[in-house]
Amino acid sequence: MLDGQLNASYRDVLLLIDGQWVPAQDGRTLPVRNPATGETIGAVAFAGKAELDRALAAAERGFEVWRKTPALERSQLLNAAAVLMRDRAADIAVQMTLEQGKVLAEARGEVERAAEVLEWAAGEALRLYGRVIPPRARNVVQIVTREPVGVVAAFTPWNFPVNQMARKASAALAAGCAIIAKGPEETPGSCAEFIRCLQDAGLPPGVINLVYGDPAEISAYLIPHPVVRKLSFTGSTPVGKHLAALAGQHMKRATMELGGHAPVLVFADSDIPAAAKASVAFKLRNAGQTCISPTRFLVERPAHEAFTEHFAQACAAVKVGNGLDPSSRMGPVANGRRLEAMDRLVGDALQRGAKLRLGGERLGNKGHFFQPTVLTDVPIDAAIMNEEPFGPVAIINAFDRFEDAVAEANRLPFGLAAYAFTGSSLTAAKVADQVQSGMMSINHFGLGNAEAPFGGVKDSGYGSEGGPEAIEAYVQARFVTQADL
Ligand code: NAD
Repeated sequence: MLDGQLNASYRDVLLLIDGQWVPAQDGRTLPVRNPATGETIGAVAFAGKAELDRALAAAERGFEVWRKTPALERSQLLNAAAVLMRDRAADIAVQMTLEQGKVLAEARGEVERAAEVLEWAAGEALRLYGRVIPPRARNVVQIVTREPVGVVAAFTPWNFPVNQMARKASAALAAGCAIIAKGPEETPGSCAEFIRCLQDAGLPPGVINLVYGDPAEISAYLIPHPVVRKLSFTGSTPVGKHLAALAGQHMKRATMELGGHAPVLVFADSDIPAAAKASVAFKLRNAGQTCISPTRFLVERPAHEAFTEHFAQACAAVKVGNGLDPSSRMGPVANGRRLEAMDRLVGDALQRGAKLRLGGERLGNKGHFFQPTVLTDVPIDAAIMNEEPFGPVAIINAFDRFEDAVAEANRLPFGLAAYAFTGSSLTAAKVADQVQSGMMSINHFGLGNAEAPFGGVKDSGYGSEGGPEAIEAYVQARFVTQADL
């Protein structure tokens, strides 16, 4: 079983344009590498302008078909795709682990969650109600309908290759939009398998198109294009700001799901061992490459040492290894950029006086493995206190007063996720009220479910990718009034 998995093979990835899986016209591809071994395992087709033009034309036609498709049929199709996702979960998970590195159990969980997202959107498709507004005159009717916004350009990153696309595609399709999806070039296979489930469930040609290529070239071409009416982007804040500006210039709607640097306020009245255990599991999920990853642990001083000790012990027990090995609990980071960032961020923090409690080094001499790392007493001028770590490094600093913890939580321009642990409902209410974030989870790590809003404030972006709010991003209210002659 173990050998079988470690020898699992990766499939090359094509583009989906107008219902056909195709290579690039000029045959161009990009290599796909396994972050656990550093080896090239396959290739992904690289779309140029010719493919983008075909995708645009197909999406324009697809939109006309899909927007007129009854909501019940749209809903049934999304549910059928969810069934296919669950049937194919084991295979899709292996493709994801090979290209992205996360452990197989997490990859499998991601596929299951994507199926839930599809099912949630299938339900919401049936509830896109309009309304009738009482008229001012007897012979007048006034109605409001909820119309799909049109063709969507969706850009998703490599950290959750399936789920990031699932969130955008399922809400857009539920609303009746067509999509040109730009998937992650470094982790293209599992994302393509998600799209294949939609296709195999019977989505008409052109309703969803999938391209890979040069992200900057593709966004520069698609966003200003008149066929595209909406942009949805998940990725880093600097790229998000650049794309939001482009969208603004061309009057395109935008949803921006950007970076975070989540504070975790741990009060001394909480169950410290339980808080530390839950924190480690969530911190090391996807090797810390999660936009809602808990990154700045702020612990009330009397509990700081105990929390740090429990946290470091739990981290030390985590087996790091190839994600295909069932005994691994954390895989490699997904690419060389993250490994270099870990070295840089940890080195800078130590040089500025932070204390290293655990880890701090690369692991082994092949693949992108980095030790689970715990830093304490990190000064706020350290780069890691200001830049999203996006890796398996936790900062655990002490605070003395409630106000100080809130001030530190709110110091950064980010505002995506925030967490707190406390035994006091008054403290919990004050934290929920005062910490600036799009999402707040208290005494557990309870974010990211299909039924709940998911999004940030400040530099973490705008719009929501979960709950009923997700579909709002893809519809516009249309008012029609008519008088009897
Ligand atoms: P990056 O900032 O270059 O890229 C981030 C994402 O944006 C990638 O998916 C990339 O393909 C895409 N991208 C980059 N330039 C683009 C453009 N001009 N048009 C369209 N898409 C573009 O760097 P990276 O090394 O991939 O990631 C670095 C940082 O990005 C991470 O440290 C993290 O802070 C952030 N990130 C956030 C998320 C998230 O879930 N919010 C996911 C991945 C990365």
